[in-house]
Amino acid sequence: MFATYDDQNIFARILRGEIPNTTVMETDHTLAFRDINPLAPEHVLVIPKGAYISHDDFALNAGEAEIVDFIRVTGRICAELGVQPSTQGAGYRIISNAGTDGVQDVPHYHLHILAGRPLGRMLSAG
Ligand code: AMP
Repeated sequence: MFATYDDQNIFARILRGEIPNTTVMETDHTLAFRDINPLAPEHVLVIPKGAYISHDDFALNAGEAEIVDFIRVTGRICAELGVQPSTQGAGYRIISNAGTDGVQDVPHYHLHILAGRPLGRMLSAG
């Protein structure tokens, strides 16, 4: 489906500053911003600044500094939202859609952090 990275995808354009975003957190390697169509009271997208298509691409090909930074940012966002179960927060869900079966719309790797309401079961059957 996404054999090569498309540098015209909307998140690449956000990273280049061509499209505005509501930034939640930014580091050298990672950008987190509010989803334009939130599916929960808190819906944050976390993306690496590097050109990776999907989770497997990032996990196999990103450098260790990028990976550590990316994961740390997700933890810091959960802390800022106050949703960590470890501190009595109400919890959250992290999702990464990949490819056709995963129904990935934007071909730049991203995690969705969803929180702020009961999120139901992980998947519906079938
Ligand atoms: P996915 O289906 O996992 O690729 O999710 C793509 C997400 O990007 C969707 O939840 C969209 O609402 C979100 N999205 C698309 N365009 C923008 C944008 N310009 N700013 C913020 N979020 C966006």
